[in-house]
Amino acid sequence: MNSKLMKTASILLLTGALLLGSAVVPGTPETVYAADETTGSIYIAPVDRAKFLAGARFDFRVELRDLTAKPNQVSITINGRPAEAFFGQSFVITNTHEDSEEYTIRDVMFRSPGLYEVEVKAGELQRKIQYEVIVADQYGKKAKNVIFFNGDGMSHAVITAARILSKGMTEGKYNGLLEMDMMEARGVVTTSGLDSIATDSANSASAYATGHKGEMNALGVYPDNTPDSLDNPRVETIIEMLKRTSGKATGIVSTAELQDASPAAGVAHTRRRGDKAEIAEMFYKVQPDVILGGGSAYFLPQSVPGSSRKDDQDFFKLFEEAGYHIVENRTQLLQVDAGKTDRLFGVFHLGNMDTYYDRSTNNTAVLGSFTDQPTLWEMTQTAIEVLSKNEEGFLLMVEAGSIDKQLHPLDWERAVIEAIEMDKAIGVAKRFAEQYGDTLIVVTADHAHSMSITGTYWEGDGKSGKDAVRTYAEAGFPTYVDADGDGFPDELDVERKLAVHFANHPDYYEDYKMDPVPTTPNVNGEPNPAKLLNPDDPDRGRFLQIGPINGSTGVHTVEDVPLMAHGTGSQYFIGVLDNTEVFFAIAHAMGLQLLDSETEIGELVQLRPFVESLNGTITYNGGNTVELKIGQGTARLNLTSGDAVVNGQSLSTDVKIMNQRTYVTPDFAAKLLELLPERNGRSAPWQYVNRYAASGGVR
Ligand SMILES: [Zn+2]
Repeated sequence: MNSKLMKTASILLLTGALLLGSAVVPGTPETVYAADETTGSIYIAPVDRAKFLAGARFDFRVELRDLTAKPNQVSITINGRPAEAFFGQSFVITNTHEDSEEYTIRDVMFRSPGLYEVEVKAGELQRKIQYEVIVADQYGKKAKNVIFFNGDGMSHAVITAARILSKGMTEGKYNGLLEMDMMEARGVVTTSGLDSIATDSANSASAYATGHKGEMNALGVYPDNTPDSLDNPRVETIIEMLKRTSGKATGIVSTAELQDASPAAGVAHTRRRGDKAEIAEMFYKVQPDVILGGGSAYFLPQSVPGSSRKDDQDFFKLFEEAGYHIVENRTQLLQVDAGKTDRLFGVFHLGNMDTYYDRSTNNTAVLGSFTDQPTLWEMTQTAIEVLSKNEEGFLLMVEAGSIDKQLHPLDWERAVIEAIEMDKAIGVAKRFAEQYGDTLIVVTADHAHSMSITGTYWEGDGKSGKDAVRTYAEAGFPTYVDADGDGFPDELDVERKLAVHFANHPDYYEDYKMDPVPTTPNVNGEPNPAKLLNPDDPDRGRFLQIGPINGSTGVHTVEDVPLMAHGTGSQYFIGVLDNTEVFFAIAHAMGLQLLDSETEIGELVQLRPFVESLNGTITYNGGNTVELKIGQGTARLNLTSGDAVVNGQSLSTDVKIMNQRTYVTPDFAAKLLELLPERNGRSAPWQYVNRYAASGGVR
């Protein structure tokens, strides 16, 4: 089509479009484009095929990228309606780059289930995507409490090894099963992210917490085209949803530092998981009722030795002032009187907590001064005791962080011991569920590692290295013993060990012996001799494992991960689930309702915040008339009849008044948009948008 005709045609586009994209703020140089025909691309966040719970909050953003010409018409519609009228809020329009233009609306939601088509037309550019909005199942018995376990990096092989080491085997039959083996439902989870088949813990844990895919290293946000990692389009986390809409208590427990990707996924919104100082602040902003783990370096002010902060914020003090009971070691944790404690903040290490192996052997070479750290099951037990006092129920997210942290350096024993530690915590949760009912327990991993069990390793006949790896019939059975019955093998360097190998690693030495301290496999491209029991071994080549990748450690793998569920609502966790669907399965199991009576309002637009987001004023004239002033335009609306005069033009609308709030139809809101002669996002009334959000947004 002739481009001039196209432009003429596009003038007929939907109302909101007429107002967008052409205004220039005084003093801002007008963007210069190379040509007058627009080519480039359209990016929309949330992305195509995103799925939402009705009432879940998110930021909506359209980016016109790589523009060769400024589009003279931009229309952004949802199911055919201008997006601004649809969401009841105005776009903030920006030009982040010389050849880009962005349209952002923060903190909106879909109020009704169904399919929504988002259509963007900008000059000759066009893009159509679709969203799905659902409400959680309300039928059947619902889980009042949810305890979600994330074994970071816990592949099927990790579970098998944990079962062998913890329970042992006789003539091919296990002598017992793990707690996570004995759950009612089992499925698998696919883990890939928005930008890559291989995921990291940030976007994968976020998928569980929000129901949305993310990019590598991103927490609770979609990508955008700005360098700022903290301004990305956000999606609400389940902890934020519960805090906003329910009386449920929430908790986050991890053996990693709390600012690390998996625990942070419950509260954080950043494109960069490394924003740990900011993530600490996000914990404080969201305030889950129980917070237990490592990572005090980012909770302590810079004046305290060990602090990683660059400011004077003291989160121990802030949390205490917010009513949290503070604990800093195991002794204090075990003394917590749960009956008198509603909020608990416990941080037990400057960084990641040490592994159970190092804690239980009092390996001071690793522990340093942190000799009094609790176990994961002790943290889980205390968290449940505190949270379960809430009569509305609770959601607790528990992570075993060191499974992943130890599989990176290919230290499978420390990783598997951590998995057993998590299994004991799962046991604590199952006892609670058994006793009190109405509880769902979910166990999964965020991604896999390449660990695989080949057979056994035995040097008893004088062989070593590859020659001592025993396969098939020669493997027999390993000789781990748990004489004290604590669920952990008494020794790890037993006579006949598991032979464990990896697929995704750099060149490194594997001598099948425990590393005295966790050790990096490869340094500067060379296998690290420190991985060997005898680093000066003249014949160390027999332990050399040539790996398929470069780098210093093993990496995540793409395979599906295990999914187990137990208790109320466990039927939702069967089959193959995408990681985002685990979020929705939890929502179904809980019957998570984010809207309440607000569903009755359907897609109406609340008048006051909408007008205020346009920098307008609204005046109630005592009787049943309101006067609206937006820009140079005015409108008058009769609340009884719905008759209106907008800039001299007579109209009528449906008016609904609920709970002292006035609502109008989206079409009428679109008419109000026309009152503004020109707008530009750089002068957008952020304070109104923020106040609007603080007041509860569109209801
Ligand atoms: Zn990892």
